[in-house]
Parts: sequence; structure tokens; C-alpha cells
Amino acid sequence: MDSRLQKYIDTIPAVRDAAQLKETFWLNDRLVPREEQNVTLVNPDQIRDASDRLVRFAPYLKRVFPELEAVNGIIESELREIPEMKHYLNHTYQAGVEGRLMLKMDSHLPISGSVKARGGIYEVLKHAEDLALEAGMLKETDDYSILAEPGFQEFFGKHTVQVGSTGNLGMSIGIMSAKLGFRVIVHMSADAKQWKKDLLRSRGVEVIEYADDYCAAVEEGRKNSEADEMSYFVDDENSKNLFLGYSVAGERLKAQIEALDIPVDSEHPLFLYIPCGIGGAPGGVTYGVKEIYGDNVHCFFTEPTHACCMLLGMATGLQDQVSVKDLGIDGRTDADGLAVGRPSAFVGKVVEPMLSGIATIEDRKLYDLMRGLLSSEEIFIEPSSCAAFAALIRPEELKAYIEKMGLTDKMKNAVHIAWATGGSMVPDETREAYLKMGL
Ligand SMILES: *Cc1c(COP(=O)(O)O)cnc(C)c1O
Repeated sequence: MDSRLQKYIDTIPAVRDAAQLKETFWLNDRLVPREEQNVTLVNPDQIRDASDRLVRFAPYLKRVFPELEAVNGIIESELREIPEMKHYLNHTYQAGVEGRLMLKMDSHLPISGSVKARGGIYEVLKHAEDLALEAGMLKETDDYSILAEPGFQEFFGKHTVQVGSTGNLGMSIGIMSAKLGFRVIVHMSADAKQWKKDLLRSRGVEVIEYADDYCAAVEEGRKNSEADEMSYFVDDENSKNLFLGYSVAGERLKAQIEALDIPVDSEHPLFLYIPCGIGGAPGGVTYGVKEIYGDNVHCFFTEPTHACCMLLGMATGLQDQVSVKDLGIDGRTDADGLAVGRPSAFVGKVVEPMLSGIATIEDRKLYDLMRGLLSSEEIFIEPSSCAAFAALIRPEELKAYIEKMGLTDKMKNAVHIAWATGGSMVPDETREAYLKMGL
């Protein structure tokens, strides 16, 4: 192990637990009230800009994806109350969940069935728009459905989009880029599931497989792309565009919560639990919801014990200067969407003052929670996604946070949202195999 980490192991219990592969729950001692959260790396105008761009693209998306016809080209997921799952958690894990438990079903987002349909698709659209505007083929005031015409296909076909992925990012980038007409290369890490590679190849995407981990796949993708001036690299380790695409979830969630007449204020706290890989998706969502609900929303990230990179980066303050391997952790997890060994530097810095905490969970529990959700609510989500319940099944630490924030008597009015990040595209036979895991 890296000797510079010993002092963190000696002084931070969550880091010690993480090093021993124990489940843990770290509460962020750098969380500060909203007015003191001085974020400079991104700003709210950029969320607005991203949101407007998605509106401009809606007529195009509606034209090329039949599943977006009825929703006018807006990629959004359902927010559903899951009372039977609340009962299951309270009964099976003595979770003591008070208030409402809801599921944000990004697991069922159109086009690519995961949270990556927010950031990933957004970044490809932004790139396509930049190219077309620059070439003088498009104006912002045009009806973007013209992008489906052959002239644009031909134009984008001269350009390549590349990305490194553990699976779901590649699916979003691959499907969207191929639809626009780009040549696409997805660099897949060893964790990527076979069916995801097969599906991408069937859509004309070039998939390059690596026996190594995610960071290595990203590195190769970046190098490959830099060597080709017509190639654009979607950089999950640094991309602000991905982050901003995710952050639009904030205003979308607000509209859904209001439509359900659910109050969120100092008497009605909102708790969010979001599975975390490199940090872009949960970080972007957190940034977006904090912008709207400020101190009345409490955001938690969740990670597998074997890939707890954000926990290490945040708890030590080292951000991307530490990887799970530095602590002797192998980074192997069945939660392929979360199989990342080193966190984004950029995201950690943005969320440092606004994140409430990070909980980790063992893989085998993901399968139990998957079966629990299926049997209680008849909803299937993939293993990575089930990490969304990790903090809720550690009631003691959650209670400590609630007491510290003075929320104890308000929890009966609380809303908890578990952010289901993927699952609807899992093929039947893989799903059957998942459901038998660990039995
Ligand atoms: C990618 C992914 C996440 C986390 O997103 P990051 O940006 O890597 O933190 C969570 N769940 C699923 C299913 C994913 O595919």
C-alpha cells in the first residue's frame, strides 16, 4: 500500500473500513450551508444553457426515436412512490425509513436505459450542434429535425466520436452518435458486460475491448482520439458537458415533485441517494438539485465496497490523486456501472461543500435488494442501480446525520428518493442469472 495513506487510515474511520473492504458510511465534514458553497467551476447559467439545448434538439429526437414521439422528444424518467419497498427495507433491514420512499427511474430512461441517457446523450448532441453551427449548416433558431436529413448524416460521417466506458456510457454515446451518423469507437474495460458490447456492435458501433480496468480504457480512447483530428473524445474524467447534461435533472425533478403536490422546504426535507462511479452522474444531479432546493435537499452517493473511489477521494481530500488500488483494493465489482477506481477531480471539487455523505455496499447485498425491489414493487433494476439503497440500510449513521442537521422531528414529512440508474435494457437471460445470484 501507498504509505502516504496510512495517516488517513489511522485518523478517518471510513477510510480504515474502506481499506478493510468493510461497508461504511462517511459523513462529509466539509458540508457547509448553501450561502457558503462557493462553486466556481460551473455556474447555473450553464445548466440553463444545457436545458435550452435539449429543448432545441427535442424535435430531432422525436423524429428519430419512435419511443420519444409521445413525450415530444424530451428524455425523462418517472418518479414513482415505492411504499412496498419501504416496508421491505424496514422489515428486512430494520431501516426505520420514515416519510415517503420514491424511486427515480432513470433505469427506464428512453434510448439507453440508464442515467447516462442524460449526460452522455447531451454531450453528443452538443458536439453535433457545435460542428453543424461552425460549418454554417445549422442555426440555433432552426427546427433541429432537419438534422435527420441525409446531408447531415454525410457530414457527421466524416467525424468520429470516441469514449472509454464500463458499459452504460458507451451505450448512450454509441447509440446517439451512430444515430446522428458519426463513426463511433467505444473503448470497453474488462468490467463491461458482453450483451452491451453485442448491442453496440449491432448498431454499427466499433467496440474495442481491453483486459484492463476503466482508467486504462479511457486512456487508450483518449490517445486514439488525439491521434485523429476528426475525432472527438468524450472524457468522463474531466467533461463539464457530461456533468451539465446530468444537472438538468434538477429542474426536471422539481417539476415532477410539484406535479405530485409534494412540499420540499425546511419542514419537509428531501433526501437523495445516487449510485456513484467516477462521479459525473451523481455529481451533476446533486449540483442541479442543490441549485433548486439548497439546504432542504440532502444528497448522498453510494458505491460498492470494491470500487469506493469517491469515498476515498472525498474523505482524504486527495480527490483524483488517490485510487482504490493505492489502498490495495482490487476495483472488481459486479456493479459494472460503478466499477471505477479513481474519481473525477473536477466533480469532487464541485460537490465537496454540498455532499452530505457516501455509503458503501457489498455486491451480494445488491442482489438481495434487487430481488426485494422486484418482489415488493415489480420493478427490475440492474445491480449497480441497487446501490441506491445502500445508505437507507445503515440507519444508525443516517440517524446521526439527521440529528446533526436538526431534522429528527421532520423526518415523518421527508421524501427519500433512491435514484435507480440503470436496468431496463438488461436482456432476459442476464436478468434471470442476476436474480439467482448469491442464493
Ligand atoms: C455510470 C453509472 C453510474 C454512475 O455514474 P458516474 O458518472 O460514473 O458516477 C451509476 N449507475 C449506473 C447504472 C451507471 O451506469
